[in-house]
Amino acid sequence: MDEFDVIIVGGGIAGASLGAEIADRRRTLIVEAEARCGYHATGRSAAFYLESYGGPEVAKLTLASRAFLADPPAEFSERGFLRVRGDLHITRDALPELPPGVETRIVERDELERLLPGIRPGWRRALFEPGCADIDVAALHSAFLRQFHRAGGTLETRAKVIRAERKGERWSVMLEDESVRTASILVNAAGAWADSIALLAGVTPFGIAPKRRTMVQLRVGRSKLRDLPLVDAADGSFYFKGEGDNSVWLSPHDEIPSDPCDCAPEEIDVALAIDRFEQVVDWPVERVERSWAGLRSFAPDRLPVYGFDAALPGFFWCAGQGGFGIQTSPAAAKLARSLLLDQVPPQSVAHIDPAVFSPARFLS
Ligand SMILES: Cc1cc2nc3c(=O)[nH]c(=O)nc-3n(C[C@H](O)[C@H](O)[C@H](O)COP(=O)(O)OP(=O)(O)OC[C@H]3O[C@@H](n4cnc5c(N)ncnc54)[C@H](O)[C@@H]3O)c2cc1C
Repeated sequence: MDEFDVIIVGGGIAGASLGAEIADRRRTLIVEAEARCGYHATGRSAAFYLESYGGPEVAKLTLASRAFLADPPAEFSERGFLRVRGDLHITRDALPELPPGVETRIVERDELERLLPGIRPGWRRALFEPGCADIDVAALHSAFLRQFHRAGGTLETRAKVIRAERKGERWSVMLEDESVRTASILVNAAGAWADSIALLAGVTPFGIAPKRRTMVQLRVGRSKLRDLPLVDAADGSFYFKGEGDNSVWLSPHDEIPSDPCDCAPEEIDVALAIDRFEQVVDWPVERVERSWAGLRSFAPDRLPVYGFDAALPGFFWCAGQGGFGIQTSPAAAKLARSLLLDQVPPQSVAHIDPAVFSPARFLS
């Protein structure tokens, strides 16, 4: 069968979560260019849930996702996806301002030394955000895909869209092998390729810009790191968290403009990350165990884009998830579902104004 109600381009967390929400109501196909769905941004994240991240509007989506991530419905997953560790926003100067609704408390130097043994002098204080957690991203993404399949959805991998044409009320979507699928709604959940998909469908792109971020896994001469809080600089110049007993995941918080691609880390960014890390703690760096990079894709106002395109009917945006696409996915998918199906949103997201995320905001 090659005829669907909805075709979702992209099987990352955005496409999978929206697919899981709508497949019981619409015959839905997810087409994913790669051999597996989490190959790009979704499989390269730092895997944390941080309510203060991304500003007040993103925080609403994050906070509305917490209950689902911590305690999902039993049929979705037998266990939750969060492991709480807290976050220290450390500073040499002023404390950061965080969005309303996020629980925090001030930590002075004495307590900071207890919470982060080996912290160097100069880091005066911190804001502690107790709700910060690790997310089991692979388990969450798989659970969305499982729900999608259970609800009757179809997934095709190694299925790159190369053309999309609106013929009357339907889209005719051509894949790389020149086979064609049709649907009345085309969803753009293509991550870093969101603008490319818009262009090939004849839709005006908004300038969703991919930006490279580097991650480094370091082996250090310290142990018992796994349960320490996430540590990030209030000025946004790095973050790190204990990964294994004596290893950390570290990022220099880089944001390098990039074309959409299968990106890799640059040596200079790995070096920068280590340099910044060494200025925070006295933990001896032993070696780089691995490093990777991924693309975080932002709309010009750094808010995600959910909703039908104002100019081209049947083209639905689910893009621009920046650095918060995992932690916001449950609430964002529920909001997007209500827009796509033209239904009243469920209570968990009823307080969130969808106009903030509408593609129509780029028209004026
Ligand atoms: C280093 C790093 C750290 C991050 N840390 C966090 C974090 O701690 N917490 C958090 O919540 N978020 C984090 N993020 C952000 C998060 O990973 C993204 O917001 C999220 O994964 C985006 O999901 P997506 O489905 O839109 O994109 P992707 O996962 O990139 O999926 C898009 C898919 O579309 C497919 N595609 C593209 N073009 C086509 C085509 N023509 N035909 C078919 N398929 C196509 C691609 O192959 C790709 O698989 C991080 C990101 C990075 C890179």
